[in-house]
Amino acid sequence: MQRVRVIIIGSGPAGLSAALYTARAQFETVVITGPQFGGQIATTHDVDNFPGFPEGVTGPELVERMKQQAERFGARFDYDLVTEVDFTQGTPFTVKTQNDVYVADAVIVTNGATPRKLGVPGEYEFTGRGVSYCATCDGFFFRGKNIVVVGGGDSALQEAIFLTKFANVTVVHRRDTFRASTSLQIRAKANPKINYIMDTVVEKINSETGVVQSVTLANVKTGDVYDFPTDGVFIFVGYDPNGGIFGGQIAADADGYVLVDQLMRTNVEGVFAGGEIHDRIWRQAATAAGDGVAAALSATVWLQERADQLEPLPLPAAGAAVADA
Ligand code: NAP
Repeated sequence: MQRVRVIIIGSGPAGLSAALYTARAQFETVVITGPQFGGQIATTHDVDNFPGFPEGVTGPELVERMKQQAERFGARFDYDLVTEVDFTQGTPFTVKTQNDVYVADAVIVTNGATPRKLGVPGEYEFTGRGVSYCATCDGFFFRGKNIVVVGGGDSALQEAIFLTKFANVTVVHRRDTFRASTSLQIRAKANPKINYIMDTVVEKINSETGVVQSVTLANVKTGDVYDFPTDGVFIFVGYDPNGGIFGGQIAADADGYVLVDQLMRTNVEGVFAGGEIHDRIWRQAATAAGDGVAAALSATVWLQERADQLEPLPLPAAGAAVADA
């Protein structure tokens, strides 16, 4: 059992920024990273819109630098998964991981969201064998091949553009207009390696060899159903918040997004949240980072207000003093 001041669940930009602030405020902070250190942005190739990187930065480099910055002020990282929490008794809160149990005065929930599945036959079976949810991770394996990208949002078009570095791409979208930003639509349409099949859904992913060979497509307007040969299927149809571990102990909306007030406080006093676990609208690395900072500042104020009730804990190793940003 480890007794700490602040547990941060999740290690995306929200969690990493929160860790920087709580550690720098001299609160012993442990980040439970979850299955993917750095969260979704860590699987993104070119990050062009995180302030402070005029030439852009890769997702893995961005999160590594954020981690190092938090570590400089004493934040610790546990590469583990949270399996269960107990928020029912109020502070201090119990957070169980696969390998440990933490008791923390404050918890900051930043465990993000997970790519949504299509739920069609063949999707699960051929994941990793032609079906992918991560262009950065898997695009390289499709050099010189033909692939399908499913979806019509920013993720689908952004990843389709990236994937043309390796492959010829056919974007399959269920409507006749895109949800993606105009600028991404213009870039995608100017790319000669991208074709489009609109008003169409994937009904099935097929293979007789163990790796994807085709998709069965259905035109939702004409009713036409046909097989379309492809070597891979990249699915970008949105994300679902990772709220399962909370077992309903913190208030969430009907889709599972955690509800917070303006100060990033959940309905449980001492539990704060930020990033995609609560934000269904902006979902940017920079907005998540801002959320994490706000959640950490709220947690800091809350902890300072009850300083006389806090059990003494060893201070984190502080880094050099620097001016506030
Ligand atoms: P999204 O905006 O929710 O788009 C999901 C897309 O998948 C939509 O086009 C949707 O179709 C389609 N879809 C959903 N379920 C489907 C299903 N079962 N079968 C077929 N198609 C399905 O998700 P996103 O593209 O991942 O973007 C999420 C958020 O992140 C957005 O706010 C976006 O702006 C942001 N984002 C920003 C950037 C950037 O700024 N560079 C990059 C990536 C993401 P409909 O359109 O018909 O609903």
